[in-house]
Amino acid sequence: MEVTLLGTGDTTGTPTPGCDCDTCSEARDRGVERSRFSVHVRNEETGESLLIDASPDFRHQFLARDVPLPDELLVTHVHFDHLDGLGNAYRLFDSLPVHAADERDPETGESVAETVRSKFDYLDRITVHDRTPLSAFSACGFDVTLVPVDHPPLLCYGVVVEGNGAKLAVTGDTSYAIPEASREALADADLLLADAIVPASLCEYHPAGGRHRDEDGVPRTFGHKHATREGALSLADELGAEETRLVHVSHFYPADEAFEEPLTVDGERYLL
Ligand SMILES: [Zn+2]
Ligand SMILES: [Zn+2]
Ligand SMILES: [Zn+2]
Repeated sequence: MEVTLLGTGDTTGTPTPGCDCDTCSEARDRGVERSRFSVHVRNEETGESLLIDASPDFRHQFLARDVPLPDELLVTHVHFDHLDGLGNAYRLFDSLPVHAADERDPETGESVAETVRSKFDYLDRITVHDRTPLSAFSACGFDVTLVPVDHPPLLCYGVVVEGNGAKLAVTGDTSYAIPEASREALADADLLLADAIVPASLCEYHPAGGRHRDEDGVPRTFGHKHATREGALSLADELGAEETRLVHVSHFYPADEAFEEPLTVDGERYLL
């Protein structure tokens, strides 16, 4: 399993357009980028590629990285930074299966699969497959499972990809409060990609503050929707991953922390 991190940033990316903060400036100086979230997973045995999330930076990502266009796509949730890049599929594919959850979201009144189907009804080359969370399905020769996470107010899913003796776990956009059944599914991966949007020290600037504090009072959730760096690292300990990398990273990290391990930048590649 060959995993390429196409997009490791949050919804504005780093550098953020028009931003001259120290972190965005440092990214420009280093020549690195954190574009909107997407992970490319290639099955070296079948030659097929599964794409996790359709980043609005899709075109740029596939021009910048030496990876083939995907054979199948999975969408974790309907936020702009994970879904809206699907418009890039127009005229690029003869056919593109898209996998998404079948649970009805009380917030939108439809499942992720239904939203994808209605929002991109002009794409006659895509076929949306309704997938039941916590039930494995086959994609690109892998066993793939959507696992419910905690990203209020929307339903959102992490992803487990297994095959060729390897296991990849992706938390998706989530607070620290991932339900137990999902934790079991995400456990013991060779590589865990965990949402870590900011360091815990920034919770004091969020109107909702921090939640899910550890025994030292450090918040593991930033506001309601995302894990802090500290929360992601706690989760990694609990899930027992062989290796953990932090993704969905924002430019709000102080510049002297923003490029430290295990935070990722675009283009990193892992062979599992
Ligand atoms: Zn900035
Ligand atoms: Zn989101
Ligand atoms: Zn996001």
